[in-house]
Order: sequence, then structure tokens, then C-alpha cells
Amino acid sequence: MTAPGSAPDTWRELARLMTASLPDLADPDAARIVADLTPAARGRIRAHLTAYPDALVSGASAAPRSVQALITTLANHGVTGVRAPACLRCGRVRPLRRAVPGGRVCLGC
Ligand SMILES: [Zn+2]
Repeated sequence: MTAPGSAPDTWRELARLMTASLPDLADPDAARIVADLTPAARGRIRAHLTAYPDALVSGASAAPRSVQALITTLANHGVTGVRAPACLRCGRVRPLRRAVPGGRVCLGC
């Protein structure tokens, strides 16, 4: 078991990227959520938040599945301010599975 103080730098960086746009998210909660992610998800989310620092609050459809899942997790934790991405075509908030130029669309589109 990894103690919070000894979390890898990349985990701490990811937690910082999350709390930067979510002032409501406490550092220990961010650290716990990061620890629960798979290594692949941590890498993808870190890359996306580095490129799009507001991805958790913008509702932009470009968010990859791992970021969509993180937004759901944050919302389930009662974190205010998170905004699930809306379909690029129909604007509905649903799982966005298909990448198209400019973002992602839902299955119905
Ligand atoms: Zn749609």
C-alpha cells in the first residue's frame, strides 16, 4: 500500500491538474481517486488535462473515454463544477464513443 506522501510524481501531477480546475475537490480526495485509476487511464487523463486544462469543467466533446469516466467518478463523489462532455452533433450528455473531426459523438449520431 502506498502512503499518500510517497505517491509517484506523475500521480501528484495528475491530482494537481484535477484540483486546478476543481477548487471543490480536496487534495486527499483527488489523491484517492488518482490511486484508484488504472495505469493506462492515469496516463491518458494526464495527457488530456495537460493539453486541455479545463476538460473536466468545459463539457468539451473531445474528452476521451477515460476522462468521461473520471468526470462520472467525480460527479458521484459530489464534486461540484464538473461537467460531462456533450455530443458534438446533438449536444446531449451521453457516453461519447466515436471520435470525429472536432470532438466526439454519441452512438445515435
Ligand atoms: Zn449525439
